[in-house]
Amino acid sequence: MRLSRYFLPVLKETPAEAQIASHRLMLRAGMVRQQSAGIYSWLPLGLKVLRNVERIVHEEQQRAGHIPLLMPTLQSADLWKESGRYDAYGEELLRLTDRHGRDMLYSPTAEELFTDVFRSYVKSYKDLPLTLYQIQWKFRDEIRPRFGVMRGREFLMKDGYTFDLTKEDALHAYNRHLVTYLRTYERMGLQAIPMRADSGPIGGDDTHEFLVLADTGESEVFYDSEITDLSFGDREIDYDSVEQCQAVLEEFTSRYARTDETHDAALFEQVPEARRRVARGIEVGQIFYFGTKYSEAMGATVQGPDGKPVPVHMGSHGIGVSRLVGALIEANHDDRGIIWPEGVTPFHVGIVNLKQGDAEADAACDSLYASFAALGLDPLYDDTSERAGGKFATMDLIGLPWRVTVGPRGLKNGVVEVTSRRTGESEEMTPEMAVEKIA
Ligand code: ATP
Ligand code: MG
Ligand code: MG
Ligand code: MG
Repeated sequence: MRLSRYFLPVLKETPAEAQIASHRLMLRAGMVRQQSAGIYSWLPLGLKVLRNVERIVHEEQQRAGHIPLLMPTLQSADLWKESGRYDAYGEELLRLTDRHGRDMLYSPTAEELFTDVFRSYVKSYKDLPLTLYQIQWKFRDEIRPRFGVMRGREFLMKDGYTFDLTKEDALHAYNRHLVTYLRTYERMGLQAIPMRADSGPIGGDDTHEFLVLADTGESEVFYDSEITDLSFGDREIDYDSVEQCQAVLEEFTSRYARTDETHDAALFEQVPEARRRVARGIEVGQIFYFGTKYSEAMGATVQGPDGKPVPVHMGSHGIGVSRLVGALIEANHDDRGIIWPEGVTPFHVGIVNLKQGDAEADAACDSLYASFAALGLDPLYDDTSERAGGKFATMDLIGLPWRVTVGPRGLKNGVVEVTSRRTGESEEMTPEMAVEKIA
């Protein structure tokens, strides 16, 4: 993409309403625009990151055999009356009435819809296990939308639902999700720690939240510092293996790690004092096993091996896709701007032409651009006539991992300058070597 043809409305001033770094930087970098409280337009740069986050979530879900589909955002209230949640959910549920006076709602989560699809088609235990998921917009009329996309009212969520014949099978599905989540966050360059949590209005006993440690997080968390040494890495996992998934769950949940909702001071005391940490975190996902709560209320049964109907055991598993964009910035920025991890960056590399209109510099930039594109990389070429300082400031703000700076003086010696956004280190090298280094 050439910057002169792109739509990147960066702001010079820091927006007054933004209290935390990610919100400030998303507004300044022209990623989002607030349209009303907690409701955002995703501008081109923001949309690219959102799509990258989404892509990683899809890939990791499908790697584990989970099946994507898409449900409507607007739903009839009938299913919610059946499950009993229409009255129970409270003010966060946006209720609407259509022209015929029918009660509708904007889905804040989708247990009812998935259970309805399941009960309509699946009749036999032989069709289990089944995990269906979607990445779809949700609406919750949050009492205090704030921190930009981190606590929006409209937000993008991956929500997956598991259907199994027995509790043991459902717990395997739960463990399998835990593994997919560990992989998902790590691929984005984030450490998200599974913590024992409270199940809230979805209901159920077994539940973990995934938290990214950050001072600006809304949850208070208590944990054994050993847990931050763990990483999933690139180990192979057989998602069908009950033992392997169980072992990962045990490894990642055996140390004390809880949110304030489930914190147990006496248990925490048993962690050696030097390892006790009290901090703040951002909830970027949650997994639940809730048994037959919805299947019984809504008649989602299958014919069991003995021919008798059995209500299926269910779980639901969410990832805050749009919140992750904010969380990624909270974890990766400095005072000049964002520092994107490679896995989610909107462009792989920025090309800065120090002397637009200089035949040699223009040609060198065009050639670099073509080389990156040929390798399947997505470069952003600042071909505007802005001054060097302004170009650098924009590149630093939008946080691409690499910048290649091209000017007549360097070209005389056959070199361009390659700068890493994360370390700030610059190196001169030939354009060919620059391409090789970044690819
Ligand atoms: P929170 O405690 O932050 O209100 P939640 O526990 O109500 O979140 P869940 O029902 O667990 O949310 O939804 C799954 C995921 O969706 C959450 O882990 C979070 O990452 C994301 N999410 C929830 N509410 C919002 C929101 N208002 N804006 C953006 N993302 C959200
Ligand atoms: Mg909530
Ligand atoms: Mg929560
Ligand atoms: Mg939650």
